[in-house]
Amino acid sequence: MATATAQALSETARAFIERGPHKLLIGGEAVDAADGRTFETIDPATGEPICEVAHAGPEDVDRAVTAARAALEGPLKKVSPSKRSGLMYKLAELIKANGEELAELESLDNGKPLAHAGGDIAAAVNHLRYYAGWPTKIEGETIPVSARDVLCYTLREPVGVCAQIVPWNYPLVMAIWKVAPALAAGCPLILKPAEQTPLTAIRLGELALEAGFPEGVVNVLTGDGETGAAMVDHPGVDKVAFTGSTAVGREIGAKCGRSLKRVTLELGGKSPNIILPDADLEQAIPGSFQGIYFNSGQSCNAGSRLLVHADLYDEVIERMAGYARDAKVGPGLDPDSDFGPLVSAEQFERVAGYIDSGLEEGAEAVAGGRPDGDSSNSGYFVDPTLFTGVEDGMKIAREEIFGPVLVAQPFESLEEVAARANDTEYGLAAGLWTRDISSAHKLAGMLQAGVVYVNTWGGGDPAQPFGGYKASGIGREKGHANLDAYLEIKTVWTQL
Ligand code: NDP
Repeated sequence: MATATAQALSETARAFIERGPHKLLIGGEAVDAADGRTFETIDPATGEPICEVAHAGPEDVDRAVTAARAALEGPLKKVSPSKRSGLMYKLAELIKANGEELAELESLDNGKPLAHAGGDIAAAVNHLRYYAGWPTKIEGETIPVSARDVLCYTLREPVGVCAQIVPWNYPLVMAIWKVAPALAAGCPLILKPAEQTPLTAIRLGELALEAGFPEGVVNVLTGDGETGAAMVDHPGVDKVAFTGSTAVGREIGAKCGRSLKRVTLELGGKSPNIILPDADLEQAIPGSFQGIYFNSGQSCNAGSRLLVHADLYDEVIERMAGYARDAKVGPGLDPDSDFGPLVSAEQFERVAGYIDSGLEEGAEAVAGGRPDGDSSNSGYFVDPTLFTGVEDGMKIAREEIFGPVLVAQPFESLEEVAARANDTEYGLAAGLWTRDISSAHKLAGMLQAGVVYVNTWGGGDPAQPFGGYKASGIGREKGHANLDAYLEIKTVWTQL
């Protein structure tokens, strides 16, 4: 194992890595890619390779779709709702039992601090348990139609073979957000993790087999964007679920529109976080700090635009900048690190490019700034960066940066801040801090966002719908809304 940070791993995590090159999971079998291709997954704290992973091509996608279809039409049909529920609880228990290993693999592959990776594993377990309760509660309805002597009722049926394409920012959590509702609905799935972070998805596939899911129900294809595209294009796929960039989401949405595949998209954001004049700053400042910098800013719902009432602006900026300067950025497996590196050289360059653009357009970095070195140095570290002197039209104020970069701006009135908060193509999250219940609900109603946080940022629960307005996506993940995305409604109309 080449990477220096990997030396800190437990025996089990190390043994998993040393088992590489890791294979694809198709039809219950661990197999090489049909053309034998592999790729390296990289440790973002050092830039060194961790291990090799199979690179699935179109032929592998075809094999996985065939296996999933066979599972849908065969063994999965025989699994009763209560048995399905039991298998899901078992998988949740296995994830919990292997939590330490999974957290270490996540931290190593993604770069996030180990404690945060541990939080991700707990969230994944919780999510699976929530959906494990659903299989026995998926009900149709009897419809009181007005036609004479007609019995009309509905059945809920699995939507079919699901292609699930997930990103690298919360690799296991994003996978479970998609896998859990699919399994609850009785759908077989093909999961594709991001090329930057394939390890926990591979382990998840192994645990699904160990839990006892029939072969072909959970298939895992590691690969790149072309693997994802081949999954979207495959005529045997009935539903696509995607989390990632708005650009790729638009492409996938357009393809699914043409083929009329079901699709849900969870995309980017440029979420406004508003501190009203009567906010409790002891809550608002640390909350806003974590709201943007947690996960090194690589969260779709990061509070990346800070709008502060003019009366509080100077104090908030000074204190936020102090927090930013004090934060320790280092390898995820170092227990002293508050924040890890960015996930990849590409992401480092993208974020550094945005920081350059902010400086060139005349904004001031009062904390952080252009990272030293480039992505070829050891690790992709970027300090928490806070920009002031930002105009609404600047690139850093409008585009999703997906890194530890916050733009702060003052405002004067509620109406003004609502209009500026909404003046974006995105609408994933928004937040506000106030002690005044009336302003809280008034502003929450005015904000165009799929989730509005009041006096907090980023909390969540599996039962809560999550998704975006406008270019932040289509449909909702989590809660029963996402279960519906994996079910068809069949109406049975019977003349008596
Ligand atoms: P992408 O949108 O390219 O990747 C997300 C997932 O989609 C990955 O699994 C990727 O595979 C896959 N993919 C890429 N291209 C295609 C395609 N044409 N068809 C099907 N699947 C595809 O995000 P990036 O990793 O390139 O990150 C770029 C930017 O996207 C970030 O800077 C950030 O702004 C945004 N982003 C948003 C996320 C969110 O949670 N909303 C998460 C991640 C990124 P692979 O990685 O293997 O190429």
